[in-house]
Amino acid sequence: MRVHLIYLDTSSIYPPHYSCGLGSVAAVLRNAGHELTFSYIRNDEEAEVSLSLIEERRPQIVAFSSMSSMYPRVMQLAPLVKQVDNGIFTVCGGIHPTLEPGCLEETDGLDAICRGEGEDAFLDLLEAMESGREYLHIQNFNFRTDNGIVENPLRPLLENLDTLPFPDRELFGYEAIIDPRNSVYRCGIPNKRTGEFLFTRGCPFDCSFCSNRALRELYHGKYVRFRSVEKSIEELRTVIDRYRLEVILLHDDIITLKKDWFYDFFTHYVDSIRLPFVCNSRVGTCDEDMMRLLKEAGCHLLVFGVESGNDHIRNTVLKKRTSRAQILETFALAHKHGIRTYSQNMVGIPGETPRHFMDTINLNADLEPNTPGIGIFHPYPGTELGEMCREKGLIFRNELSAAERTETVLRLPGFRPEHIRYYNENFPDLVKRKARGNTKGLFCQETLLPPYPIFGGLIRYLENKRDAESASFLDRIKKVVRLVVGEELYSKMARVYRGILDQR
Ligand code: SF4
Repeated sequence: MRVHLIYLDTSSIYPPHYSCGLGSVAAVLRNAGHELTFSYIRNDEEAEVSLSLIEERRPQIVAFSSMSSMYPRVMQLAPLVKQVDNGIFTVCGGIHPTLEPGCLEETDGLDAICRGEGEDAFLDLLEAMESGREYLHIQNFNFRTDNGIVENPLRPLLENLDTLPFPDRELFGYEAIIDPRNSVYRCGIPNKRTGEFLFTRGCPFDCSFCSNRALRELYHGKYVRFRSVEKSIEELRTVIDRYRLEVILLHDDIITLKKDWFYDFFTHYVDSIRLPFVCNSRVGTCDEDMMRLLKEAGCHLLVFGVESGNDHIRNTVLKKRTSRAQILETFALAHKHGIRTYSQNMVGIPGETPRHFMDTINLNADLEPNTPGIGIFHPYPGTELGEMCREKGLIFRNELSAAERTETVLRLPGFRPEHIRYYNENFPDLVKRKARGNTKGLFCQETLLPPYPIFGGLIRYLENKRDAESASFLDRIKKVVRLVVGEELYSKMARVYRGILDQR
């Protein structure tokens, strides 16, 4: 079958990256003899080029891979593919249709969605189509038919990842992806040929903002799986030799999750790979001996999701279940062994206020990560926290159309969008300043004010009464506040409160 794969990416300002998931599906289809073409789409021009390619090649199937924030592009492109040739079968896989299967009904021009892991499912579909067999019963797919949507159950997860071929990198134009000039965007070492790998699938933790828990709940049986050390090292060796890689980026959620696999893998890595690498870990899963081995193996950067410095936000809202002491100890251990650290944080979390966020700045100042990273909280569909935001009506703009993690889609009672943006844009600077004891710029105005519900509410109440007694009481309050905080801060406060009051 002739299949055109489309990878959608909203980060149009960054160079393209590699998708290990789509690369794996592509390898399985190619090994079975199907003919593949590929488009990487970040903007309208690339979408145009892709449509021209489809017109020229006339594939029988166009398959999109989409995360939630990229799904509007699928909605835009699927009907255009049908305009090129109504006979092309269009299908979308990826995390969005997996957790939001209702998207099929809402998308004109889309014939099917694929939920969960796509390798075996796509293979079954293509084989059935090629041989003219009926395919509407194939597991993992939902189909649009004249009689409505046909939903099929999910097949069990692949138990043995070693049965998969190594992901296809050629299709992605891998040479351009590993271009040394792009390495810095992927936390690699600047100006080095940096290759991406994924040897594990799944994570056993329950963080409320992460899709792992939602995915795990879709399945029964073993969710966390590791490719064997032997196959993982073989894949590394093959790709390093072929593409002359200089730095390795391990995308596994928690490379330190399974101790026996970890020791086996990195012992082999020390023996036969020895290239500098970047990987993700989790506070509480990496002890001193593991740090020692990571260093010996060439760990250039170790990434930890700190998420929030406030214990309530981190552990009750985000369900990260890591203590402040554990976080401090883990970062100190990494630094003791000379490993650079990256701390991943969020701002604009449901229930968060600037006061909570000060704890994130303070904790990061204490951790002294080499890179204090930040992103704006995004309520991913299907996640526990995403669904809570939907139920509570916190989402004020279409979350699918926002620039994911760089702008907020939430209306939080205690955290204004412009302040979320301010902290997102200035976080690394603020952390570094705080670590040096300099608090300049640390507080955007609102953080200095008494909580709005008390103080702002009192002002509004007195203003609304519009009688002489209230007006004089209000004047007296203003004089006292002016005296206490000084003229400059008072005028900032007046602006902020006015802004808040006007908004409501
Ligand atoms: S530990 Fe990381 S990967 Fe695992 S559920 Fe939490 S956020 Fe997701």
